[in-house]
Amino acid sequence: MPATTGNLLLDALSPELREGILAPCRAIDLPNRTQLYEQGEAPAYVYFLCTGVASLEVAMAEGGSAEVGLTGHEGVVGAMHLLGPTPTPSQACILVQATALRIRLDDLRAIFITSEELRGRILEFVQQQNVALEQVAACNRLHEAEQRLARWLMMCRDRSQQDTMTLTQEFMADMLGTRRTTVTLVAGSLQERGMISYRRGKVTILAPAELEKAACHCYRICNNALRSLYRPLNA
Ligand SMILES: [Zn+2]
Repeated sequence: MPATTGNLLLDALSPELREGILAPCRAIDLPNRTQLYEQGEAPAYVYFLCTGVASLEVAMAEGGSAEVGLTGHEGVVGAMHLLGPTPTPSQACILVQATALRIRLDDLRAIFITSEELRGRILEFVQQQNVALEQVAACNRLHEAEQRLARWLMMCRDRSQQDTMTLTQEFMADMLGTRRTTVTLVAGSLQERGMISYRRGKVTILAPAELEKAACHCYRICNNALRSLYRPLNA
């Protein structure tokens, strides 16, 4: 068994517990836009991402969708389904090409029920996700598109550990719940000021410190929650 998997939640577990979870896991590659589960259904599998990012999206009945969460190597996509039987309104798909350790939801749930250690770490991850969800819900209602785009790009960067990401304008508009023309305008402005380059659907973050300054304070709150994950249990 490798000493580390690249997934921060798994790597924070005691070796014996990690081994027990890894035994039924399968390593898989997940290309961009792979659908991991549909809204309203309990997924057959959940995914510990080792690289890449998954996006949680809510699609509306009348058309259109908006992003409600991002998960990268810090967590497990589908963790909400461990908590109870209520169907979630979100679906998950791959935003930045990923590698993952896939496990059946039922297999992970069996360990979740018996292991206090795993339960603690999963709840910690879900709490962090909820902090971001609350902050971003208010952000999307109150903050300007440029601040939000800067925040979102920084959040993608933290979770993917990459400066270059393939993101179409249409997709960014969907994610931010804004118009395509607004994305063109604000991405153009960030590019003119040298913070990002945006070409043929590829965004490269050139100056993360500057981009962070262009983001609203919501970024700092989400980043602090992310960085506080998985402190040693006996510390
Ligand atoms: Zn904000």
